[in-house]
Amino acid sequence: MKNSSSYDLIVIGSGMGGMSAASMFAKDGYRVLILEAAHAPGGCSSSYYRKGYTFESGATTLIGFDEHQPLRILEDHLGISLPKTAIEPSMTVHLDGDEIVRWQDQDRWLKEAITHFGEPSAQKKFWSLAHRVSKVVWKVSGKNPLFPPQQISDWFHLLKNDPRDVWVLPYALSSVKEIARRAGITNAKFYRFLDEQLMISAQSTADDTPFLFGAPAITYTNSTNYTVQGGLIEMVKHLQRYVEERGGELHTKEKVTSLDQKEEGYIVTTSKNRRYRAPLVVSNIPVWNMGDITTGKVNEYFKKESAKYDRAWGAFTMGVATTDSYPENMSLHHQIHIGKEDQTQYLQGDSIFVSLSHPNDNVRGPEGDRVLNISTHVEPEQWFNLNGEYDRIKAEVQEQILEILVKKLPGFQRQNIKVAFSSTPVTWADWVYRKKGRVGGIPQQMDRSLLDWTPNKTPFEGLYLVGDTVFPGQGIPGVTLSGINVYYRVQKNHKK
Ligand SMILES: Cc1cc2nc3c(=O)[nH]c(=O)nc-3n(C[C@H](O)[C@H](O)[C@H](O)COP(=O)(O)OP(=O)(O)OC[C@H]3O[C@@H](n4cnc5c(N)ncnc54)[C@H](O)[C@@H]3O)c2cc1C
Repeated sequence: MKNSSSYDLIVIGSGMGGMSAASMFAKDGYRVLILEAAHAPGGCSSSYYRKGYTFESGATTLIGFDEHQPLRILEDHLGISLPKTAIEPSMTVHLDGDEIVRWQDQDRWLKEAITHFGEPSAQKKFWSLAHRVSKVVWKVSGKNPLFPPQQISDWFHLLKNDPRDVWVLPYALSSVKEIARRAGITNAKFYRFLDEQLMISAQSTADDTPFLFGAPAITYTNSTNYTVQGGLIEMVKHLQRYVEERGGELHTKEKVTSLDQKEEGYIVTTSKNRRYRAPLVVSNIPVWNMGDITTGKVNEYFKKESAKYDRAWGAFTMGVATTDSYPENMSLHHQIHIGKEDQTQYLQGDSIFVSLSHPNDNVRGPEGDRVLNISTHVEPEQWFNLNGEYDRIKAEVQEQILEILVKKLPGFQRQNIKVAFSSTPVTWADWVYRKKGRVGGIPQQMDRSLLDWTPNKTPFEGLYLVGDTVFPGQGIPGVTLSGINVYYRVQKNHKK
């Protein structure tokens, strides 16, 4: 071994889950080491430079800075302001020739919903309940870092919650669809709208998403939505600087190859043949990746946890740069529903999500050009066994998507394309090491109780988990909350 170093805490992976945990600990004077396998930090909420443009790696929509929301809690705790620019409207949904604008203002959005889906009193009832549940969920989740409870004292901690908020709990047992039906909504088009809105925010459809999760998911467009000048990597770099200014380190291109529990803590070995020691380890890699770096009892635990999730989505993503030929004031984000005529075995989702760079963002590309990130859900497994057919199928799907954009995205024209390339679940497994190309966390499901989620605390002293495969799940706000939760959990369990 080349060298050996000791830290107070090692974070494996620099996604937003790992970065938020690392910065909270760095604030308290912990000597933190973040080990990142990729060439840049940020994982699925990062950015990369290619052919003159900066593309987002995965996530494009950003919320979480409103009252009680995780990124606000993080900013307040650290005393920083992350780089961001508010946008409005939050998104446009293209469905059956309609352009449904998801305005941030709740009343304006309700009017828009009624214009497109009718049934005014049912719509009003549904959205009013969704906003009320969502508000409580954000408030309660930010105040309960010890959830799901792991020990008796955690249950006592739950008793500190405001008893007036308990009314939302039964919504863990009803699906979004059930609640919409109960509100009196009969319009089938609305249910298609709901399904696809939930697919991007809960990874599941309206009949399988518990309303308790679904309410914040479908109202996330009513939070303040942001974009980051230069790409999401700027937000991650801000946190990286915060950690480094407090004596911490972030090593890129240094993959963790093994994690061994010893009496005095953990030994972490990396692809650079280095060994690091720390009494505390926070792992930000997916639960199903943990089996690859552990042995013995730790390995058995992670194999058991991974087996609970036998299905997750993959993504076919594209980076496209074009000249700016889009209508003025057009939304930055577009969910484009596609019909059966556009679907194939490899393009099986019901919608495509397109995000444009901000028209004033001249960091991501030269003035007069726009950078597009496109993504759609795919079954990841089928991309791994295509052998000689892989390149052809990938090129075909890319062509299909471009054709759909020509038909359905206002202003998009083939002759304006300057750069276009695509990534499949195989790429995702290679560049951010998402096992089997599974991204976006674990789909919400009616049959999984809140208590079934893999908790942040493992049964192994000093080993904690953050990220989108553990509670509270996917998305930048979700993984940031997991980082915050781990910080409070460690504060409770370990004296520095
Ligand atoms: C296409 C797509 C679109 C999305 N859109 C949105 C959106 O618009 N808004 C939103 O909020 N969320 C969105 N999401 C979800 C969101 O991006 C993720 O849930 C979140 O970023 C995951 O963060 P994380 O901290 O769990 O892990 P990751 O971002 O996966 O980070 C884990 C890190 O660990 C590193 N790593 C892995 N193995 C090792 C190892 N052995 N050693 C060292 N490092 C390792 C990886 O390289 C990676 O950097 C999207 C996701 C995808 C894929």
